Amino acid sequence: MKSNAERSASPDVCAIIVCAGKGERTGLNYNKVLHYLGQKTVIELVLDAFAAYDVSSAVIVCSPEDEARIKELAAPYDGVSLCYGGATRAQSVRNGLRAQPCDVAVIHDGARPFASPPLINACIRSAVRNGSGIAAVKAVDTVKRVQNGKVSSLPRAELYNTQTPQAFTYADIMQDLIKSTPVGARVGIGFDVHRLADGRPLILGGVTIPYNKGLDGHSDADVLAHAVMDALLSAAGLPDIGVLFPDTDDRYLGVSSMLLLDEVVARVTVGHRINNVSAVVMAQAPKLAGFIDAIRKSLSARLGIGADSVNVSATTTEHMGIIGNGAAIAASASCMLTENHG
Ligand code: MG
Repeated sequence: MKSNAERSASPDVCAIIVCAGKGERTGLNYNKVLHYLGQKTVIELVLDAFAAYDVSSAVIVCSPEDEARIKELAAPYDGVSLCYGGATRAQSVRNGLRAQPCDVAVIHDGARPFASPPLINACIRSAVRNGSGIAAVKAVDTVKRVQNGKVSSLPRAELYNTQTPQAFTYADIMQDLIKSTPVGARVGIGFDVHRLADGRPLILGGVTIPYNKGLDGHSDADVLAHAVMDALLSAAGLPDIGVLFPDTDDRYLGVSSMLLLDEVVARVTVGHRINNVSAVVMAQAPKLAGFIDAIRKSLSARLGIGADSVNVSATTTEHMGIIGNGAAIAASASCMLTENHG
């Protein structure tokens, strides 16, 4: 959005435009940033406002479902990139900030198309001078404080409702985000291995992979889903899947492990929020690189977190052992849960 000469004379400003929400509150069955106001969508009007200020770059934080459409709408604008949102707004902002280091970050709600270029400019100038600059309006409603059952009024003249844009020097906001790393985090680990057999489908993370063999087991033998489930259960301090879904129980004969994962997610999210999951699949064959994205999306949909919070890698064992000779596939997973005080 700016020439190099202009950039060297002024701070490198990046707009972080958060569009990861859904249209539920507005009654739309699609993200409201995609709603047309006249000739343009809400997100285009927001990009117009930031282009008028001439920010150096912009990161649009969106959900995987909206990625293709937003990419299309943002294509005419220079310096715009996309990243996925997280489970909370704070995580979405964090993802956006990490995607584009800069001097000053201007965080803006993608569903607010009426932030004027002068308002954006004032927030940025304040951030350059004072470290931060936040759009706010004087409180209209009376706000009460309830403390130990006693109700008191707060002086309305001193109260403001914050809005966006909110501009911060990058170093300061990143330091604050590091400080606000959730307490009560719990990590978990899981491991599983299944034998490869003829006449079975190969299912990993809920995705069917074309191959001449599949994993053998009581359920669909989705070794990756099993490792992920055990990681989640271990983090939550719950019994493992061998206890929850015993292979002596015919209810689980041939069952999709995705249904078991739903059950595990329901159990661990009582009192916890899933922060992220990382897993590795150990297989000599087939090559899994082309399926990793689909597996991440499949697992993230079940886990209720963004695909960027689910990482899956694949490795061979260099032809060594039962995995290397093609007799079995193994998977290991770790995860982090945070205490849910909501
Ligand atoms: Mg298993």
